[in-house]
Amino acid sequence: MQSISAKAAENTYDLAVIGGGVTGLWTAFYAARQGLSVVLIEKRGLGAGASGGVMGALMPHQPTGWDGKKQFQLDGLLALEEEIAELEDFTGLSAGYLRCGRLMPVRVARKRPFAENWAKASETNWPHPFRWRVLDETPLPRWLPADTMPFGANYDDLSARVDPRKLLAALAEGFRRHSVDIRENTAVETLDPDGTVRLAGGDRISAGHIVLATGWQSFALIGSGFEQSMGTGVKGQAALLRPVRPVDPAAPILYDDGVYVIAHDSGDVAVGSTSENSFDDPGSTDEKLDAVIAAAKALSPALEGAATIERWAGIRPKAAGRDPLIGPLPGFRNTFLATGGFKIGFGIAHLMAKAVLAQIEGGNPAFLPESFLPETRLRSAEKT
Ligand SMILES: Cc1cc2nc3c(=O)[nH]c(=O)nc-3n(C[C@H](O)[C@H](O)[C@H](O)COP(=O)(O)OP(=O)(O)OC[C@H]3O[C@@H](n4cnc5c(N)ncnc54)[C@H](O)[C@@H]3O)c2cc1C
Repeated sequence: MQSISAKAAENTYDLAVIGGGVTGLWTAFYAARQGLSVVLIEKRGLGAGASGGVMGALMPHQPTGWDGKKQFQLDGLLALEEEIAELEDFTGLSAGYLRCGRLMPVRVARKRPFAENWAKASETNWPHPFRWRVLDETPLPRWLPADTMPFGANYDDLSARVDPRKLLAALAEGFRRHSVDIRENTAVETLDPDGTVRLAGGDRISAGHIVLATGWQSFALIGSGFEQSMGTGVKGQAALLRPVRPVDPAAPILYDDGVYVIAHDSGDVAVGSTSENSFDDPGSTDEKLDAVIAAAKALSPALEGAATIERWAGIRPKAAGRDPLIGPLPGFRNTFLATGGFKIGFGIAHLMAKAVLAQIEGGNPAFLPESFLPETRLRSAEKT
């Protein structure tokens, strides 16, 4: 077998992964661990897209209305702890992961029955020992005061958090150790149906298989070949706050009326996010973020007087129909899509990577809902 460096000299690889976000990094890491020669091509730097932010909530969907997508996310959330532990062992780097749980105040009486329903459904749809519960008293009054939860609070012990940037750094270290060839500041300009990757500047990469993990920009890159759009980008703004008094980094994630509050190991607290379907500047922050910060401070007294140490914005990849897109790209030889993580990308990216690598080997992973396949999505779009 030819060595990886000889292949790199010829621009020929077993696998080209395009996009250095959390999806592309897990894919490159697992592929290299399997012994494939891998090139990772990233337009800017690793983590330059949606994955390079500050939040990192890993939160399950509500346990009612169970379907393949909820099961896929649950599988992802359950497996991630061990995947990250292995990665940390291998690299010696912490990803800032903790299963911290989540608290969501019930502010109006009519929402209490929903909470009780979710608690009951978790007994059926979530595995032991994880449960959704309804609390009548706050477990942490300085984090979530009693007066914010007049009708109790939802609490689940399945939610976790990870530090997005630390996870990306650990993944990058992981695949460096497995000799992935990393091409940063290298943009893919076009993908040819015959499987050729054309780079800006004219070079070509030839690979046995290609995984397109270019986040929201995937839709434009493949768009011209299809009659309907496969998805879009939704901007989000978030901030990192430094509390005046230390906050317990094991505190549960708070979620209330669209605002998340996440304590990280560093002692800093991430708050977010806006959801913007139209935007001019993908990277700017504005008064919409000021409103999120104010709402987070109004929710939790632990944030009173906290300094804003970073304001950040990114674009989430939202596939049409909201389900991720994972699988062979119709009309393109040996080219696979892995995008559409939207708001839950960190909890499922490792499973998206495993699914796409299994498909490349010719498998049809049972854990992958059919609705995630690009060809299914194109078929259903044709009917509408
Ligand atoms: C404000 C905000 C808060 C969020 N909070 C959470 C959260 O708490 N929990 C959670 O799970 N998810 C969260 N998300 C969503 C999560 O960030 C995304 O689902 C995830 O990062 C998507 O990862 P990705 O690898 O698919 O895309 P990206 O991270 O966007 O990576 C795509 C990469 O491809 C590169 N690229 C694009 N075009 C090309 C090209 N032509 N050639 C080469 N490279 C290219 C880009 O530069 C980029 O680095 C949040 C998102 C935002 C914006």
